[in-house]
Amino acid sequence: MDFSDDPQVTRFRADLRAWLTANLDAHRGETGYHSAEALENTQRWHRALAAAGYVGVSLPAEYGGRGLPDRYEAVINTELALASAPPPPPIGHLAHALADFGSDDLKARTLPALVACTQIWCQGFSEPGAGSDLASLTTTAHADGDRFIVNGQKIWTSGAMWADWCLLFARTEPDQPRHRGLSMLVVDMTSPGIDRREITLASGSREFAEVFFDGVEVPAANLLGARGQGWTIAMHLLTYERGPADMGWVGRLGNVVAGVRSALASGDLTADRSTVERLAAAAADVEVLGWHVERSLESRGSANSSAGSVDKLLSTKVEQNLYHVLVDLLGSSFVLGGPQPFGDYLWSRAQSIYGGTEQIQRQIVAERVLGLPRA
Ligand SMILES: Cc1cc2nc3c(=O)[nH]c(=O)nc-3n(C[C@H](O)[C@H](O)[C@H](O)COP(=O)(O)OP(=O)(O)OC[C@H]3O[C@@H](n4cnc5c(N)ncnc54)[C@H](O)[C@@H]3O)c2cc1C
Repeated sequence: MDFSDDPQVTRFRADLRAWLTANLDAHRGETGYHSAEALENTQRWHRALAAAGYVGVSLPAEYGGRGLPDRYEAVINTELALASAPPPPPIGHLAHALADFGSDDLKARTLPALVACTQIWCQGFSEPGAGSDLASLTTTAHADGDRFIVNGQKIWTSGAMWADWCLLFARTEPDQPRHRGLSMLVVDMTSPGIDRREITLASGSREFAEVFFDGVEVPAANLLGARGQGWTIAMHLLTYERGPADMGWVGRLGNVVAGVRSALASGDLTADRSTVERLAAAAADVEVLGWHVERSLESRGSANSSAGSVDKLLSTKVEQNLYHVLVDLLGSSFVLGGPQPFGDYLWSRAQSIYGGTEQIQRQIVAERVLGLPRA
């Protein structure tokens, strides 16, 4: 099997590497979501990346993208990781939902600013009583002339504290069976009646919020797709979120392996034989995952729903396994080594929850990929 790049990908990588060489140093400050300064640096980085044409590259050019195959999203993730750059903005799933289901008017009003990273978006799906069982959500959007009136509560909404817009999953057709009664709305987060309350994570990250909607008015023109089409849109979006375009941050794991390797080689770190063997196995998995991410995007794109679950299960297992080996290798110094390594470990734990838990992905693979009867 030939794993080498085709000439277009080679050129794209070379251009991106040259841009990183020229621009990355100006963005070396602390990034992340644990302080106002880190957040500002993160957003500045995202805007710089976007201005250089490296955000939303798989979207149509008329909406700020470059019309490139999905594989290029993973190439960007990989190259940023290899350069130890901060991650790209996690917007692919939202942007593709808007691009694939939005009216021309809605696409023109939303996509260019989303791709330019001048407006921030969040994803309002989960509720206190509706996570894995998402179709049981109770937030309502009552149609009233040329607007919807929204009431309810969302939780675990990443980025909601600073978001300008929310893609809100709500019940518009209470008389329909539960999956068919749902719709997707684009909600202005500055609308009267929205109350955001921050949730701080164990890692110190402050990216989460609960969001309360009390009689919030949303123009009917902000309906994404048709009324009752929400479930179809949500599954399309989640496929993208679970797949390697958004999860393609595998190069970062390669950096972790390289760092441990050099510490072991220099004697800064010692390990017994069985731990070294586990590290070798974890490193082999990281290597294979890296190839898989780019090649699976090349062969099938991101629109295959069950394959997204396979990708998510695979990358979650590889990442969590690597961090388990690291915890055993570094012990307490891992925890005490500052917020970054321990934060990365905690983030690896979150992998099996966000975008649909590991158990739910296994059920999807069992039923839709393997064709097994529902247990
Ligand atoms: C880092 C992170 C970012 C997130 N960002 C967002 C966001 O931006 N927007 C948003 O809407 N949500 C977001 N979430 C929420 C996420 O989608 C939910 O946490 C997830 O879907 C699980 O829902 P839950 O927390 O209600 O857990 P539950 O659904 O209550 O599940 C609890 C446990 O029970 C298991 N379980 C549940 N049902 C079954 C079943 N039928 N069979 C077997 N096991 C089952 C689950 O696998 C899990 O282990 C985020 C979560 C994380 C961790």
